Amino acid sequence: MPKGHHYGRTQSRAYTGEYHRIHANIFKSLLTKPIGSYSLNSDYLSDEHRKLALTENENSFRFITFTINEKPHQIALKLDHSSASNKLYITCPYCQKQRQHLYAIKYAYACRQCIGLNYASQSERPKERLMRRIRKLRKELWGHNWPDVNNMFEQVTYWPKPKWIRWKTFEQKRNKINELEKQYWPMAIAQMKTTFGDQFMEYL
Ligand SMILES: [Zn+2]
Repeated sequence: MPKGHHYGRTQSRAYTGEYHRIHANIFKSLLTKPIGSYSLNSDYLSDEHRKLALTENENSFRFITFTINEKPHQIALKLDHSSASNKLYITCPYCQKQRQHLYAIKYAYACRQCIGLNYASQSERPKERLMRRIRKLRKELWGHNWPDVNNMFEQVTYWPKPKWIRWKTFEQKRNKINELEKQYWPMAIAQMKTTFGDQFMEYL
């Protein structure tokens, strides 16, 4: 099995364009601004993706929270003091990893790895194997360029029937993917819970 990360060049470029990307730097001024409510100045983002609450915990760590689809999405602001440039990182609300970018998807902000813009093939656990299988089956039906084909936050239930396939075959294949997705989510949630404990907000 090949090692390392695979960034399918044309693919990730195509998919990246599907989502609006926010850079950690845009939050830099929030490190010194008063605690309170703010709004991102962007025409590309929905209202819910723009409004944020700035908070601070007892250790003076700052967080921003977006309320999207009635669920809080908390993002930590982490300044990297080790670099000369004092780079700011933001954490992904799902995997909690430090990122320089997050992407606005329909009901969330998430990092590129969580929404499947790229993925590593090494050390696959059952959850990853299942995720890979779901993505492969989706591509067989809807093709590589179908929006959200890699996005595990979207489910295939209402995706349309491609023209080339008969209804019966389509329904069988789609139901199979549906079934796998149902197996996938409890695994994904269980893993997030053990890793992040109470920080994780169940959103389904
Ligand atoms: Zn993530």
